[in-house]
Amino acid sequence: MTQPLFDLAGARVFVAGDRGMVGSAIVRRLASEKCRILTAERDLVDLRRQAAVDDWFSKNDPDVLVIAAAKVGGIHANNTMPIEFLYDNLMIEANLIHAAAAAGVRKLLFLGSSCIYPREAPQPMREDALLTGPLEPTNEWYAVAKIAGIKLVEAYRRQNGADFVSVMPTNLFGPRDNYHSKHSHVPAALIRRFHEAMAARAPHVVVWGSGAPRREFLYVDDLADACIFVLKNYSGDGFLNIGTGTDVTIAEFARLVATATGFKGEIVFDTSRPDGAPRKLLDVSKLHALGWRHKTELHEALALTYRDFLAGGGRNQAE
Ligand code: GDP
Repeated sequence: MTQPLFDLAGARVFVAGDRGMVGSAIVRRLASEKCRILTAERDLVDLRRQAAVDDWFSKNDPDVLVIAAAKVGGIHANNTMPIEFLYDNLMIEANLIHAAAAAGVRKLLFLGSSCIYPREAPQPMREDALLTGPLEPTNEWYAVAKIAGIKLVEAYRRQNGADFVSVMPTNLFGPRDNYHSKHSHVPAALIRRFHEAMAARAPHVVVWGSGAPRREFLYVDDLADACIFVLKNYSGDGFLNIGTGTDVTIAEFARLVATATGFKGEIVFDTSRPDGAPRKLLDVSKLHALGWRHKTELHEALALTYRDFLAGGGRNQAE
């Protein structure tokens, strides 16, 4: 392997959002790098307040910042809590990026989301599809905040020459996912629902929407590996998509979850629930060309995630 562009050895790496699914996976992955991992206690540092963030930076002096902190949630939460999805996310990212620049952070990685792309973007979605059309209305609050974050990263890069980069992960799942009955994304929602149906010996499981939307899913430990790869090996102007390059229908995905959990009953679709975007598949050719590919296939990732769920590793498993 050639020498990385950026050496993590000896660096003080601040992972903002370390208690979430993504941040905790990045912390797990960083354990095999020779760096020092820094985190901010959630109850002590409110990332929505610039003064609290500035204070944390002046006390801890990080070299690298990974922004995995965000207000996140599935289609229902996004639709019903527009203030949190817009305000909290704008403040968290603006405060962290601004503080990092002021503190002379040498490398910054901002995590966006595939929902930044227009609802009708050509599939698979290339990075240059950003801002070419209207957003999917069910998650536009989150998307607008994340687009602002990408632009802020670009602005610091352009105006100050900062080595700040952004990545756009596809739909994620894995250990420490949020299993909240109303706020979860489809992988956690279905793992929990199929598991509970098994326990109750229910004859069928209800899946929201028509089953026709297509989604690309990536195991969060693979995402974490991609983030470390990007930190070390990428320093370009444009952001990078992170995904597997393949998608499945929600109906196919539900069947995979049924297999992972052992559920053998019927799957029923509730078409009174929203479908959201018809398809979300990322074009990952830029990342593949750099030399990174995912390792964990979907069925294997679902089995690992279900094991974590059974061990009580998920958040809000009872809410
Ligand atoms: P999205 O990718 O931003 O739309 O986020 P979600 O993960 O919340 O939803 C993905 C797709 O899965 C949508 O078409 C949902 O309607 C569908 N879906 C099916 N059952 C569920 C469920 O129980 N919870 C959620 N959140 N989505 C579901």
